Amino acid sequence: MNRVYLDYNATTPVEPEVLEAMLPYFGGEFGNAASIHTPGQRARAAVETAREQVAALIGARAQEIVFTSGGTESDNHAIFGILAQPILAARSGEIGKHVITTAIEHEAVLNACEALEKEGVAISYLKVDREGRIDLEELRHSLRPETVLITMMHANNELGTLQPLEEVGRIAEECEIYFHSDAVQSAGKVTIDVNELQVDLLSLSGHKFYAPKGIGALYIRGGTRLRQLLYGGHHQRGFRPGTENVAGIVGLGKAAEVAHKLLKEDARRVSALRDKLQQGLLQRVPQSRVNGGASPRTPNTTNIIFPGVEGEALLIALDLKGLACSTGAACSSGAVEPSHVLTAIGLPPEEARASLRFSLGRHTTEPEIEFALQVVPAAVAQLRELSPTYQKSAVHG
Ligand SMILES: *Cc1c(COP(=O)(O)O)cnc(C)c1O
Repeated sequence: MNRVYLDYNATTPVEPEVLEAMLPYFGGEFGNAASIHTPGQRARAAVETAREQVAALIGARAQEIVFTSGGTESDNHAIFGILAQPILAARSGEIGKHVITTAIEHEAVLNACEALEKEGVAISYLKVDREGRIDLEELRHSLRPETVLITMMHANNELGTLQPLEEVGRIAEECEIYFHSDAVQSAGKVTIDVNELQVDLLSLSGHKFYAPKGIGALYIRGGTRLRQLLYGGHHQRGFRPGTENVAGIVGLGKAAEVAHKLLKEDARRVSALRDKLQQGLLQRVPQSRVNGGASPRTPNTTNIIFPGVEGEALLIALDLKGLACSTGAACSSGAVEPSHVLTAIGLPPEEARASLRFSLGRHTTEPEIEFALQVVPAAVAQLRELSPTYQKSAVHG
């Protein structure tokens, strides 16, 4: 069967160029980057080249990049690394510490904040509007003398919507508060400059931009005091001990280089295909609507409500036809919970459950979009026919 993959926000295939760059490090170039001998130094050189490539993608300096196991670790390292600092205990004194985040963060951030909350850290979860954007006024009102960190994602994984990080960075800078951003979904899709955004910490994940799974990076602005999460050897200047994943790091570096080079071209091509998909679906499926469509967005994502259908049922029906996409729903203890992102933008649970995310990528083609434009409307129509509630509402409406 012909398979069409429109789930690039979940993961991407490793770019052939990336795989090719990695292969020697599984073979002859197997040195430990911490060893002094020649094989070790060759691995070290490869790691340092990758550090420069990753830094170049986000306008950072190479020494500000620490390699991690991915986005989840980078987010946790940033958040716990700041909160676990003894120096901040002094700053916040008796009144405790406070963190500001948003209601639509990835679980890697939300659950880290929840864990901190259990330890007595106060967390403010900023609301978002229908477009998934925070309100800068609400952010200003949330600031407290004991606020130590703002952690806010750049692009949302379910909607693709972008937060106004430059303005947030300015506020964080003025108030001398650390600023972390989960940029896992924006890296390689939109331009990122850590100095323009004024972030102190920024998370990246390889498998979201054509590097392998299990490798990522954390940008740590020079001078930022961050408590390490892991204790071990002196690898990566003690920030992140453990023998370096040389092949993964080389892959991440190559993927960053390719993404940097192709960014504008990819964005132009992919956004044209995304717009064609979105418009086509809106035209062909009665009552369908876009979630977050009026906000600045990453070029590859569209999230659409198909009233009257169960997203999970639609996802499975489409999978049977060979089309892979996603609902934002989390399956917790057997029950399908509507996406916290879609409920945060104000959708009632039944509309959140009727939404589907299509995320395109570098290898998406015009014929694939045409295929989606055939199978999605047909599957929606079929499910609606079976739905007693939709029939009823259609009659009354
Ligand atoms: C995928 C993702 C993560 C987690 O990254 P992993 O490398 O899979 O751990 C974090 N944040 C966002 C926004 C993501 O999309």
